[in-house]
Amino acid sequence: MLFIRKIYKITVIFGIVFFLGINTSFAIDDGFGAAKKIEGRYFTIYYEPQIEITQLLQQLNIGPADKLLAGKPLDESFSSEAGLAEMLDVLFLEVGEVLDMHLYSFHGTIKICKDTFELNDIYNYLFKKDATTRSFYVYDLNTIYTCANNFTRGIIGHEIAHAIMSNYFVVQPSVRVQEVLAMYVEYQLKKFEEGN
Ligand SMILES: [Zn+2]
Repeated sequence: MLFIRKIYKITVIFGIVFFLGINTSFAIDDGFGAAKKIEGRYFTIYYEPQIEITQLLQQLNIGPADKLLAGKPLDESFSSEAGLAEMLDVLFLEVGEVLDMHLYSFHGTIKICKDTFELNDIYNYLFKKDATTRSFYVYDLNTIYTCANNFTRGIIGHEIAHAIMSNYFVVQPSVRVQEVLAMYVEYQLKKFEEGN
């Protein structure tokens, strides 16, 4: 009886490990580690467990004026994880407004590393070359990579602009043109933030 129980336990544990193994094999194919997950309308967000969500919310600094610009109702305030997903949805709509490019069925991923070392490691892992980057967008994975300290509206807005342009154009504009437009979005978002 005990023996059977043991086998049962081992099977259950093996089953769980196997199940987790399947999950993590999807999660780490870019070198990104264990993460918490939040589902928003336009983004699935993964962030390292040690990151403070309140820090992300403060840095993103999306307020009522942004909601108005994005055409969203002012009914709820932002807090916690759901608030982060909501803020990013508002930022997505705002960037779409600035670019005058509207995507209705877009869904991408944002992965937030704990620091620039981890971020640069992922860059190195994906592209097999070294880089010092504050954030980047990978078209093939439809994923924005950034880290906690660089999680600001300007930087995330810049990367969302890349995501929108990559999904909006059938024939992609040159990398240089896309960079100029993304920088324009970043500038507009910062200007708007200062005027808030
Ligand atoms: Zn860029």
